[in-house]
Amino acid sequence: MTTTAGMPVLEGVAINKSYTGKGRRMQALSSVDFRLKKGEILGIVGESGSGKSTLLRVISGIEKPDSGRLYHDGVEYTGASCAQTGRFMQMVFQDAARSFDPRMPMRRSLSETGARSEQEILAMIEKVGLQPELLARRPGRLSGGQCQRMSIARALLARVKILLCDEITSALDVTTQAQVVRLLKELRETEELSMIFVSHDLALVSSLCDRIMVTGQGVCVEEGTAAQVTGAPRHYYTKELLASVMEA
Ligand code: ADP
Ligand code: MG
Repeated sequence: MTTTAGMPVLEGVAINKSYTGKGRRMQALSSVDFRLKKGEILGIVGESGSGKSTLLRVISGIEKPDSGRLYHDGVEYTGASCAQTGRFMQMVFQDAARSFDPRMPMRRSLSETGARSEQEILAMIEKVGLQPELLARRPGRLSGGQCQRMSIARALLARVKILLCDEITSALDVTTQAQVVRLLKELRETEELSMIFVSHDLALVSSLCDRIMVTGQGVCVEEGTAAQVTGAPRHYYTKELLASVMEA
């Protein structure tokens, strides 16, 4: 008998990805493994250029890995396009404003996500803590925090249970960052979401995430619970990230 209990909702095995530029080949990801459990928020933290965004692009199908395997609920989807993976996961990006068509009012952008009715859009807007009046505005007339809430709403209107968040709080002020983090924690419960939350900010990641992966130069250098990674860091990169938190 097969059972799906305890199976990760998302899993990557031995993911490799390289880029060639100016005649040089650079290995952005070297044999990276990861597992995301149901209901979990997995943090990926690491210095700039360590491969975090590349990993999310590969997971979401925006880019293909050179080798390695990807699984959703135990079913392999390696090589699937972003349009195909959009049925079960959605990306949220750092620059929320630019991820929307600048000419369109938010209502129109959100209705292009597969939302079936105005009712559904209004309910989602309320869930992400926004006023319905904002639906009449274009992205340029929203604050950074409002725009990021809109992009979370857009992702959830696609009826997915997995969010991939790439530095989504990095352009926000500290107060707004905390509000978005609180929203993600709420949505995890109410919408039964699982998330990968990528950031270079170890303090923020440890306040939100259950488990943390630390990346450095395309490899996972350390992995553990938020308490383990911040309380007893083992790798040099993690110690450096912690030291920069202390200085800030
Ligand atoms: P992070 O998100 O951790 O800052 P990235 O995944 O963006 O890191 O980048 C990892 C490495 O891959 C970097 O050295 C970066 O310069 C390189 N890289 C990323 N995207 C491309 C690309 N499209 N073409 C060439 N090199 C890239
Ligand atoms: Mg990045």
